[in-house]
Amino acid sequence: MTDTPTQLFIGGAWLDAADGATMPVDDPATGEILCHVADAGPKDARLAEAAAVQTQEEWARTAPRARSEILRRAYEIILERTDELAHLMTAEMGKPLAEARGEVAYAAEFFRWFSEEAVRIDGGAGILPDGRNRMLLSRRPVGPCLLITPWNFPLAMGTRKIGPAIAAGCTMVLKPAPQTPLSSLALAAILQEAGLPDGVLNVVTTSRAGQVCEPLLRGGGIRKLSFTGSTAVGRLLLAQSAEAVVRTSMELGGNAPFIIFEDADLDKAVDGAMLAKMRNMGEACTAANRFFVHHSVAEEFGRRLAERMGALVVGPGTRDGVDVGPLIDRTGRGKVEALVTDAVERGARVLVGGRTPEGPGCFYPPTVLTDVSPESRLMDTEIFGPVAAILTFDDEDEVIRRANDTPWGLVGYVFTEGLDRALRVSERIEVGMVGLNTGLVSNPAAPFGGVKQSGLGREGGRVGIDEFLEYQYLAIPMR
Ligand code: NAP
Repeated sequence: MTDTPTQLFIGGAWLDAADGATMPVDDPATGEILCHVADAGPKDARLAEAAAVQTQEEWARTAPRARSEILRRAYEIILERTDELAHLMTAEMGKPLAEARGEVAYAAEFFRWFSEEAVRIDGGAGILPDGRNRMLLSRRPVGPCLLITPWNFPLAMGTRKIGPAIAAGCTMVLKPAPQTPLSSLALAAILQEAGLPDGVLNVVTTSRAGQVCEPLLRGGGIRKLSFTGSTAVGRLLLAQSAEAVVRTSMELGGNAPFIIFEDADLDKAVDGAMLAKMRNMGEACTAANRFFVHHSVAEEFGRRLAERMGALVVGPGTRDGVDVGPLIDRTGRGKVEALVTDAVERGARVLVGGRTPEGPGCFYPPTVLTDVSPESRLMDTEIFGPVAAILTFDDEDEVIRRANDTPWGLVGYVFTEGLDRALRVSERIEVGMVGLNTGLVSNPAAPFGGVKQSGLGREGGRVGIDEFLEYQYLAIPMR
């Protein structure tokens, strides 16, 4: 912690906020303040934007191999510092150290992946149908980007955007979530060490997100917004981006259905459920939010899931043997408590958990609810906590209709041993990603993203870099 930067990173320099403001970073396991970081205001944001705009042209001209090698070096440094970064992330966000180490590896992998993509940016050439013109297609960076990230994956949500932006030749202003600024500042220091030129990445930590970001989106200097966060904020930022016609990528909320058919392998389904529900204490956009279980296996599934959930150890993420850390803050925990209370008032039975423990920290126990009413608020709210809500169904058409009955469409999970059914159901559920007999879909080599109100565009995979590139078409007469 002592070496972690706490200032703004602008134009390659570490700076205090212009008005000297700072904000506290809390440890969600104790409620204590870990440290203070600079709290940027609009003046700092303009400075960061200016650095990104001024650096763009020169940065776009760098050799793809040079950009690739910066990413590769940063990938290696991140892996060398796995333990240090994992402790930092656990301190500010709460997840158990083992999960934090997993996130460090996942985050680093975006840099390795995009270091490989940086040198494969292609274009095209051809003769137009009338035979009078040649066409030459080249791809160029979209320009200075504003990157806004959430607190739940403090490192990986940064590298998933910074990796392709560097590979494509874009400069950036990164605004991390105020709960978890330290991971982003540590990442900026690593990129600087890896040789990233000054001004390419600028980081503004702030508690004044609206005041800092809105002028940038409306100002004309920023050409691209890449946002990960809630649908409500995404919608607001889309409206703000409309004025200067800023290109946008949106990774928004989810309401994942987890469907277990009568022919599912229940061992696989319970393992998958533990991953899809409990990764990151349930604070993931990919978290299973609605368990639809065929009535013939619902009781057995509920019993087994409750047994596994009840055996998890809850405590501070730094303590050995802990499986479930605290939720991000009291507001987050209060929301989970209210959703459980509402479900119980509407007739749900608590198989395990459901009671907030006494004492400091934002802990909430792994909880399984069964006989959940479809009217419960958690059916159309991201729970963002360790609560599994089980509903039953009778047939395939019915469960597909119910799974799709939501404005979101990020991910869905389908458990069945029948190939025909697996394909049929996957094709009919309205989501960007499907986990078939697995509870984990995220991978840097796969396109991550949703349909409907879960977002626009994809991150990662071969298409991830496209979000940061524009085509230019050159018409050349045939003479
Ligand atoms: P959030 O409240 O939408 O915040 C996300 C980021 O947006 C934070 O940095 C936040 O800063 C910032 N923000 C909020 N209002 C803003 C404004 N007016 N202008 C500019 N920036 C603004 O979401 P969260 O609670 O941090 O994260 C949880 C959400 O993210 C969930 O809905 C989850 O599903 C989603 N998520 C999606 C993905 C995906 O890939 N689809 C991945 C991870 C998380 P402040 O906190 O200071 O407002």
